Amino acid sequence: MGLRTGEQYVEGIRNRKYVKVYVMGKPVNDAMASPFLKPSVLAFKATFDAAFQEDTKKLARAYSPYINEEVNRFNHIHQGPEDLVAKVKLLRRLSHKVGACFQRCVGWDALNTLYIITSKIAEREGKGVYRDRFINYLKYVQKNDLALAGAMTDVKGVRTLRPSEQPNPDAYVRVVEERDDGIVVRGAKANITGVAVVDEVIVMPTRAMTEKDTRYAISFAIPLDTPGVTVVVGRQLNDARRLEGGEIDGLPYMFNHEGLVIFNDVFVPWDRVFLYLDWAWAGALVEVFSAYHRQGYAGCKSGLGDVIIGTTYDLARQLGIQDRPHVQSKLTEMVFLNETMYSAGLTASWEGIKLLSDGGWWVNPMYANVTKHLVTRFPYEIARLAHDIAGGLLGTAPSEFDLKNPELRPLIEKYLQGVPEFTAEDRLRMLRLLENVSISAGYLIESIHGAGSPEAQRISMARLYDFQLAENIAKNLARIRVNIRLPEKVEPHRRSDVEG
Ligand SMILES: Cc1cc2nc3c(=O)[nH]c(=O)nc-3n(C[C@H](O)[C@H](O)[C@H](O)COP(=O)(O)OP(=O)(O)OC[C@H]3O[C@@H](n4cnc5c(N)ncnc54)[C@H](O)[C@@H]3O)c2cc1C
Repeated sequence: MGLRTGEQYVEGIRNRKYVKVYVMGKPVNDAMASPFLKPSVLAFKATFDAAFQEDTKKLARAYSPYINEEVNRFNHIHQGPEDLVAKVKLLRRLSHKVGACFQRCVGWDALNTLYIITSKIAEREGKGVYRDRFINYLKYVQKNDLALAGAMTDVKGVRTLRPSEQPNPDAYVRVVEERDDGIVVRGAKANITGVAVVDEVIVMPTRAMTEKDTRYAISFAIPLDTPGVTVVVGRQLNDARRLEGGEIDGLPYMFNHEGLVIFNDVFVPWDRVFLYLDWAWAGALVEVFSAYHRQGYAGCKSGLGDVIIGTTYDLARQLGIQDRPHVQSKLTEMVFLNETMYSAGLTASWEGIKLLSDGGWWVNPMYANVTKHLVTRFPYEIARLAHDIAGGLLGTAPSEFDLKNPELRPLIEKYLQGVPEFTAEDRLRMLRLLENVSISAGYLIESIHGAGSPEAQRISMARLYDFQLAENIAKNLARIRVNIRLPEKVEPHRRSDVEG
């Protein structure tokens, strides 16, 4: 098949055999019937619909050499820098359509990571079993156009202790039993995007390991309806608006969710195990995954930035202030911040690196880290400027139910209208959209912590920058030592661990 429609995806998750998903303390079997999860299903669905819509079809489809068919790009293995660029562009465009996180990137980045790591293990150690298993799995995912979640972040207990040193031995996902037909795993992964509405979860280690942490060095994939898997869906600001049955206050009515995924002695057959006790590879896996994921933020966050800039511009017009110099200057600043994040992600893509003899295109790790580090800051500034222009009503506007009350409606229309060309309802719709997007977990908290908290990028950038070489550049010019030979490669960057 290779390409499912949005409707087929929805049907697919309805047909999952058995899922143990909790929302606000209660079990939910049919995500589409849950007002809390339905917006999440709709956001995920948009990634399937994109493969059939005229304005996104080209970006959302890619040719897979593994099944010799077109597949949804969210399950595609990047074949060159053009694919990496297409990823960023697709994510920007999808943000325009969804107005929230569409949740399918983590699984995509996990696929590309496992492709590289299992191939590297085969190349370096001649151990091809993981690669063979992974390629079979990839073909299955591509043929059935599955929706995947990527679960890397362990609950981690005491942050300063390694997995094997934790007071709770299950603070990181680990193997508790090895059988002839597979392994049994225990532990939990936190903050997993979209997990209640996917077909499968790909699990990866979250940090570099030592020999003592061997039993924690595992990666595998399982269907969400595997016995022993429990998902506890988290709350977000304004989430109860999904339950109100309105059509303004909860705009855009497509949202992401995150969940705590608990693996309570879950059986994983061998053909789904892609890394097993190979502790020395855990660090490289994390490095590859986090760079892919950090690059991707250039697309989705600049796309949400466009939504915020567009909403702010409209609200400025409604107030009649769009031509005032300070407003123009603030709008321009928002554009600058937004396009800076996007440019960094495009650079990370065009400067992509071929890691394997037969492909394996990875992003440039320095620029991917720079991208994500910009993302930890700029959305907050963009939101600040948007809130400045939108005015205080952004935090105090009456509800849509007041607007729909026949007694109040004429009063609200009279007193909350700005420039006569727009109605009060236009204003409320824009304010709610801006509020829900710009103060959301997806635009703010995820910008900080998704793909690693800010310090993680600083550590990577400091590792990747060759300070010694920069010093030599300076020494030449300062005539402390002249004629220090500079390498052909212009940027003073070191090779990452996985390239080395
Ligand atoms: C909206 C959202 C969606 C997400 N989606 C996913 C997903 O789909 N899949 C997934 O795997 N993960 C996901 N994440 C998780 C994300 O990758 C983590 O939140 C991130 O890596 C930070 O980990 P943490 O939350 O455990 O915070 P911590 O790592 O605990 O960070 C908290 C603070 O502690 C500091 N700190 C941590 N360890 C140390 C140390 N040893 N020494 C000194 N300081 C330390 C950090 O710098 C930070 O300031 C998501 C997160 C969010 C917010």
